[in-house]
Amino acid sequence: MKAFILKERNHAEIAQVGSPILENEYGAKIKPTLVSVCTSDINTVYGTGSKKPKNLILGHEGIGEIIEVGRKVADFKVGDQVLIPSMTPNWLHPDVEDGNILHAGANFSANALSRSKGGVFAEECIVDFADMNLALLPENVDREEALMCADMVTTGFSGAESLDIKYGDCIAVFGIGAVGLMAIQGAVLKGAGRIFAIGSKSVNMALAKKYGATDSISYKTEDVVEYILRETAYRGVDGVIICGGDDSVFSQAMQVCRYGVGRIANLKLFTGDGDMSFSKFHSGRGMAGKQIFMELGKGGRRRMERLLSLLQYGRIAAKDLVTHRFCGYEGLSEAFALMRKKEEGLIKTAISLNEE
Ligand code: ZN
Repeated sequence: MKAFILKERNHAEIAQVGSPILENEYGAKIKPTLVSVCTSDINTVYGTGSKKPKNLILGHEGIGEIIEVGRKVADFKVGDQVLIPSMTPNWLHPDVEDGNILHAGANFSANALSRSKGGVFAEECIVDFADMNLALLPENVDREEALMCADMVTTGFSGAESLDIKYGDCIAVFGIGAVGLMAIQGAVLKGAGRIFAIGSKSVNMALAKKYGATDSISYKTEDVVEYILRETAYRGVDGVIICGGDDSVFSQAMQVCRYGVGRIANLKLFTGDGDMSFSKFHSGRGMAGKQIFMELGKGGRRRMERLLSLLQYGRIAAKDLVTHRFCGYEGLSEAFALMRKKEEGLIKTAISLNEE
């Protein structure tokens, strides 16, 4: 079958590979039909992360059609149109009992697709524990919007959830790419009052406002920390969601986070080695009562169903995230190159694998 693979470090390509074999009797084999390239796919190829399996099939954001189900799958059948979430936890591991779903049994165990096993950039892929991981696509939900639930919506919302937002809380979102934009919508749904969105690209700044940010701050023209502190009478914000920025963003988040009850949720991948640092002073020399959460987008069928329901009933919008559309594997290769360049105006891609 055709697939888009990590051939070797710094090189991805279209290749012919063997079809995956469905071994997990709770699993399903799916034909991905619409996929999106994630920044983490770019990091998998060009980054400094852990060593990846040879000829790893990339991609973990997709929707598709079920073409085979394991013997013990109860709720899905061949022909079902499903959302394939980026996180597919091992629901049989006892760590799940502790609420440790994403890292059950091993660090990043739920981050299996395109990391430890073949991803969705292929004619066929396998998802284990289909009844727990997949979600049926509601008929009246736009397919591109549904696709955004695989990673962008669930990840952005994980940030808003970690902050435990109370009605009227003041929130700052650093980095307003796709995840940051969804974090803003998540914060709005959770009841945030004032929301500072920190970015620079005009398209993203406009979308941040559309999705509910009250202030959009360009880090290119403003001292972001000073702006937020001034605007909050030097009290700081109740919650910070980090979705982008350079390595200094963690320190900035600590500086604007309110003493006593402030929370920082990190969703950004800090690539490379070295430290994630903040000053002793701004953390109250370790006693400021500010909490830090390091998150990944949550997975799970019920969660995906709930997110799809938000789209179905118009509570959130994700259509604007898809700025570039492609067809087939050549299109996928093009989309991948474009995501790497991150040119102005690009937020997310959608690649239809049905047509060539
Ligand atoms: Zn992703």
